[in-house]
Amino acid sequence: KLGIDVIATDRYRRAGTTCKRSASSDNSVESEQKTDMKTCRSAWGAEGTRLGRAAGMRPRQRTGRWQRLQCRAAKAPGHKRGKESICVVGGGFGGLLTALKLDSLLWPDGKPNIVLVNREERFLFKPLMYDYLTGECDVNDVAPRFEDLLESTSIEFCQGEVSSIELQQTTGKGVLSVGRDQSVPFDHLVVAVGASTRFPLGVPGARELAVPFSTFEDMLQVENLLKDLEGRSGPCKVAVAGGGVAGVELACAVASCLKNRSDATVLLLSGSTEVMEKCPAGHREAAKAEMKELGVEVLDTARVLSVEEVEGQKQVHISLGGEERVIATDLLLWTVGQAPATADLGGSYVFPVNEKGSIKTDPYLQVEGQSNVFALGDASFQAPEVSPYVATAQVALQQSDFCAYNIWASMNGRKLVPFRYMHLGEMMTLGRSTAAITLPLGSGFTLDGIPASLGRRIAYVIRQPTLQQQGRVGRGLLEREGGEAGKALGPLLQLLATEADKLLQQSRA
Ligand SMILES: Cc1cc2nc3c(=O)[nH]c(=O)nc-3n(C[C@H](O)[C@H](O)[C@H](O)COP(=O)(O)OP(=O)(O)OC[C@H]3O[C@@H](n4cnc5c(N)ncnc54)[C@H](O)[C@@H]3O)c2cc1C
Repeated sequence: KLGIDVIATDRYRRAGTTCKRSASSDNSVESEQKTDMKTCRSAWGAEGTRLGRAAGMRPRQRTGRWQRLQCRAAKAPGHKRGKESICVVGGGFGGLLTALKLDSLLWPDGKPNIVLVNREERFLFKPLMYDYLTGECDVNDVAPRFEDLLESTSIEFCQGEVSSIELQQTTGKGVLSVGRDQSVPFDHLVVAVGASTRFPLGVPGARELAVPFSTFEDMLQVENLLKDLEGRSGPCKVAVAGGGVAGVELACAVASCLKNRSDATVLLLSGSTEVMEKCPAGHREAAKAEMKELGVEVLDTARVLSVEEVEGQKQVHISLGGEERVIATDLLLWTVGQAPATADLGGSYVFPVNEKGSIKTDPYLQVEGQSNVFALGDASFQAPEVSPYVATAQVALQQSDFCAYNIWASMNGRKLVPFRYMHLGEMMTLGRSTAAITLPLGSGFTLDGIPASLGRRIAYVIRQPTLQQQGRVGRGLLEREGGEAGKALGPLLQLLATEADKLLQQSRA
């Protein structure tokens, strides 16, 4: 608590505001401030906000004061008399979709309590983060609030960070510690905490000076930094580290944002001999052609050795084909080094993990040695001989069907079904209004340009987690891309989706 207060107070002062610190009855720290919320937000900065959130607090939207994060429903979520409780940790593609599917199943002996715990108050549709940067979708399309998504379901949402898991080996029941002092009991547990950026220890300065692109806050930070660069006079240079799909997508998005500036340079630092080396050839060629069109400079076999700040610029030391070079940039974006977010989960229950920290599961997505604990998504791992696939939203989404069904089956004495992955192809954005889609037909059929961009956006409308959200994102797409007809049809589409969602919920009830 003190850590947060010191940072917040210090920053308020620097922002020229007056602060009063007081301890309320429950000992939470409150800061009175005499400025508008916008100034305070920027004064807190990302670090203060991160610390505050980690301690289970958030700045209030209207007043700007810190408030304790609350669970949406009961004081002790998942604790309703006589009912079993399923707790899902992590509200990403894997966790949120598992919870929604559990909620939609028919339960012969009555529906159990379903509790979803997530660190942030918003679900993040990560593939649309680039579209947010290029202005092709709004914040509620890419990151809707759980409160809105779960409105018509019986799922309890609890916002906070799970710090420990206590599990009784004899009964298989347990308790989660959430935030500072919340406890969430469970009979069945689903772990879907995803992955987070882990900067390599061997690259000094990277953690402090490079900006990752993986979370909601990263996305807002990159948006602000790009706006700063757009408005600044004189030449500017942005480097993106990582020549995989994420690096190429981000480089194209940045180049699209800075397109109006003839003196802007976007540089892609790719560690391998060519970008996206694991992707189908058609996909890679489409990406290379679009990067050329946008003026993205690609440096192959470029490994970042260290980063330092000199006179406001980031000096990136790289090894290029064995030779050392220094590149001066205004902004260094980082897309490499995603690691399972399991390291922060403490408590008496220790997950069986592989060398990367991914939770080991059997083909039914049950964690090794535990019949009532399941894991899926980027934080989980099945032996390669069973499933040689990489961590993507596509995998997490497909796993959520199996995970929800297998929990239901285990609670209703039915046979569990092993997870089978079906590869549906690849999609990537290549800047504003252009994309590539490669379908697994023959040796791979690739579509690119505007048709691919439209196809990708329609696929992401269909992939939204609820009907209501499909209507919302579909409306945005129609209004942006559909001209006058789209503007007229957009609200109708949203209304239809909302009504269909209500009907569906009623029929389930
Ligand atoms: C920028 C970007 C673009 C991408 N684009 C694509 C794409 O186009 N196609 C594709 O297939 N994949 C894409 N991916 C990968 C894809 O998003 C992930 O594979 C997918 O999100 C994994 O889902 P998940 O449920 O395992 O984890 P996540 O979606 O990461 O969700 C994990 C959730 O758990 C929460 N959490 C973590 N730890 C805790 C804790 N201790 N307590 C409480 N909550 C916690 C996190 O806050 C998060 O909300 C992209 C990833 C990124 C970063």
